[in-house]
Amino acid sequence: MPHFAPDGPRAAAPDVSIVIPCYNEADSLPELMRRVGAACATIAPRTCEIVLVNDGSQDATWPIIADLASHHDHVVAINLARNYGHQLALSAGLQICRGDAVMVMDADLQDPPELLGAFLGKLAEGYDVVYGQRIARAGETRFKRASASLFYRVLQNLVDVPIPRDTGDFRIMSRRVVDHLNAMPERFRFIRGMVSWVGFRQTALAYEREARFAGQSHYPLSKMIGFAIDAVTSFSTLPLRLAAHIGMVVGLIGVATLGWVLVAWLRGDVVAGWTSLVGTVLLLGSLQLMMLGVFGEYLGRMYMESKQRPLFIIQEVRVRGEAPDATGAVHALSPSLREASNG
Ligand code: UDP
Ligand code: MG
Repeated sequence: MPHFAPDGPRAAAPDVSIVIPCYNEADSLPELMRRVGAACATIAPRTCEIVLVNDGSQDATWPIIADLASHHDHVVAINLARNYGHQLALSAGLQICRGDAVMVMDADLQDPPELLGAFLGKLAEGYDVVYGQRIARAGETRFKRASASLFYRVLQNLVDVPIPRDTGDFRIMSRRVVDHLNAMPERFRFIRGMVSWVGFRQTALAYEREARFAGQSHYPLSKMIGFAIDAVTSFSTLPLRLAAHIGMVVGLIGVATLGWVLVAWLRGDVVAGWTSLVGTVLLLGSLQLMMLGVFGEYLGRMYMESKQRPLFIIQEVRVRGEAPDATGAVHALSPSLREASNG
């Protein structure tokens, strides 16, 4: 068992963990390691651990990460069994990392690791979460900026927890916040919402978002829409309530129309009206299907959650000086679930 096994004895934990999910980031990794390494050097004598999570990449990301782990003591390489998506890859890293403070960033260097010192400074002031807030988004298309802005605006109106504007997952968190996150068993993970839900003192640190160092965004519009649906359904049942409200309004209109239809019938003036009839059937039919879709979305999510599968499977974890370890699904479980599965 490696020293970071959740059930095993823990060697001295590093002061800071930097958790980085990587999907096809082979071109960014050398520059990433250079800049993250430099950032770690600036906070000495505090110790750093760099947790690189390979999320089922098709390029050379895993061989590079595994090689880094075999040459550097402070690198932990995690290989997931397939591509699980950004939020689950991040969850895997959070589960394995051991630092007293945990910084989360992307592999594409859009988030500057040089903020590490400033982040730690804020933590020292007594905050538990310091999230990076973007003041510029260089190198992103107008469409990406506009859709991201719409995303935050819609989200803020729907969701029960405050989601600060223009923040991604770039942030630093205290150990207790990470422990609470790890104990949250939900499968549809919208991590920045979950962090906000945890509470404690949270604050923002403004920074300029850079262009991607290499490659292309893995968040095309379709994934962004899926992510937005995850965000809304994870934190709000407003769409369900909205369905009921719309149903009530349409019901009232229906009753009024019925009155009008009866009056027309009494007057003996009932032949015309094909257009309004078909229109009403189409409108109500599509409205009902839409409401059913909303219910179905929530029901489907309940079904997926009720299976209680592990969130991700870790194929391998590598740390220097230790034999490659084929870790089973148990790593992927939150502590509460793990206890349950142990007996
Ligand atoms: N990522 C991942 N799994 C995925 C997609 C992305 O681990 O399925 C990682 C990716 O390598 C990067 C981070 O998540 O480190 C953010 O992805 P990306 O830069 O593509 O998103 P954007 O910044 O465009 O929103
Ligand atoms: Mg990016």
